[in-house]
Formats: sequence, C-alpha cells, structure tokens
Amino acid sequence: MSSFAILTDVTKCTGCEECVLACKVTNETGLRDTPRKWQGAATDLSSTRWTTIARTGNRHVRVHCRHCLEPGCAAACPVGALHTTDEGVVAYDPSICLGCRYCMVACPFRMTRYEWGSANPRVRKCILCYEKITGGELKQPACTAACPEGATIFGARDDLLAEARRRIGDDPNRYIDHVWGEHEVGGTSVLYISDVDLVQAGWPSQLPRDAVPELADMVLHTVPTTFVSVGMAMAGIHWVIKRRQKLAAEAAAATAAGPAAAETVTPGDEEQS
Ligand code: SF4
Ligand code: SF4
Repeated sequence: MSSFAILTDVTKCTGCEECVLACKVTNETGLRDTPRKWQGAATDLSSTRWTTIARTGNRHVRVHCRHCLEPGCAAACPVGALHTTDEGVVAYDPSICLGCRYCMVACPFRMTRYEWGSANPRVRKCILCYEKITGGELKQPACTAACPEGATIFGARDDLLAEARRRIGDDPNRYIDHVWGEHEVGGTSVLYISDVDLVQAGWPSQLPRDAVPELADMVLHTVPTTFVSVGMAMAGIHWVIKRRQKLAAEAAAATAAGPAAAETVTPGDEEQS
C-alpha cells in the first residue's frame, strides 16, 4: 500500500511558488535555474528544478514526479537505480545509475531530468523528500509543508483519495468529477483534483490505464538480447568513466599533498583500485 502521497487541489493554488522554493532549498539544487537550450524555459522542470508550476488560464498546476504505483522508469532501469520503496515512493540511487537514461524514455509523464552539464551526471527528479522523512529530519515533504494555501497536501494515498472524493462530492459544480492519478498508468501516488482539464496544463492526453511496466515488459521481451547487450555495454562504459574519475581524483590529491605522497600512486596501486 502506498503510504506517502500528495493531493494537489488546483482550485486552491495561487502560483506563489513557495513549494518550488522549498524544494530547491531542501534539496540544495540552487536558487537559479539555467537549463540547457533544448530543455526549454528556466521555469520548466530541470535537473535543478524538481517541481514547477504550469499555468493554464488563471489556474496554476504543480508539476513533479507522479510516483507511479507501477513506475515505467523503474521497470526500464537495467540496474534498479530507480526503485519503489515500501512507502510507495519512487526513489533513486545515484551510486549504481549507469546514466543510460532509459528511465527518461519510459516515463509517461516525462518527469525525469539529467545533469547534462555534470562530469558525473545523475538523473534528477522529486523523491517526495523520502530520505529526509524516513530519517526523521522532516515530517512531510518540504513542498507541502511550505504551501500557504493548503493547495498541496501530504498523507496516505487512501486517505487523500477519500479527501479528493469528499471535496468533489461537497462541491460538484466547482470540480470536474475526476481524480487525476487514481487510475492512469495503474495509479499514481500524486493525485490532483481540478476545475479545469489538466490536459490544458500539459497532462498527457492519451495515457494508458494499464501500468507502464506491463507495456515496457512486452517491449523488453521482444528484444531481450539487444536490451541485455546494451545494458552490459553501458555498465562497461560507466565502470571505465568512474574508474578514470577515481584515478584522476587520486592523482590530484597526491599532487596537492606533495612529491612524497605523489610517489605513492603507482601503476600497481591503480590496478587494485
Ligand atoms: S512519473 Fe515518471 S519518473 Fe515519476 S515514478 Fe512515474 S515513470 Fe517514474
Ligand atoms: S505553495 Fe501552494 S499555492 Fe503556492 S504555488 Fe505551490 S501549491 Fe500553489
């Protein structure tokens, strides 16, 4: 069961971006966003902006990873760097990520971003402040805690679904009778209710109701040999890059420490690193 979830009520959001700021401060992604040319405007999602606000008419819609119950990104990741936790969060382990970016292709919402300008790039996306909450640093994601309007709230998915239905039932003339994320792609932990169609704010218009992993699985079973080969090749490239970075860092450290220390970095040492 998913116990970490977010419900965003589009009718309450004023577009103040306090949630965006809180995310950036908590995750130390920097206050200024300079996405690369092909990534669009600075206000789009990027490797330094894990949540943003899409605007449609006079409505504002939070955009961030939907934390699919059966995530396509995790199914596509050949090494399990993206994975679902017991709490229903789609988390990420950069230490084993190959940088292959299959996850970016597999995400039906196009939520993942890549650190194109980094020498040691990672895939970046919202992780619902998972580590900070489970580590006791936060009681809820920084974004939901920061929202002055209560437009985006944190809770258990079942409770938030009930809350969404209650609000729609109490004011049927205000809300569209739909909870976005309840069923799409097998369900997501990030839910929305709204008085405008979210397709106008960039929500994909043709999402399958089936979970994306089942679709990905069909593709992978069609070309298993190719997939495994590419995965192994990427693993090899990743290993070589990591190793070169490690050796360069050791050499730089040895140089900084002086001639005596530099002599300790020998070819024999490198072979064992
Ligand atoms: S929205 Fe995309 S990145 Fe987020 S869990 Fe779903 S497939 Fe993965
Ligand atoms: S903090 Fe709340 S009101 Fe402000 S933009 Fe974010 S969701 Fe909307």
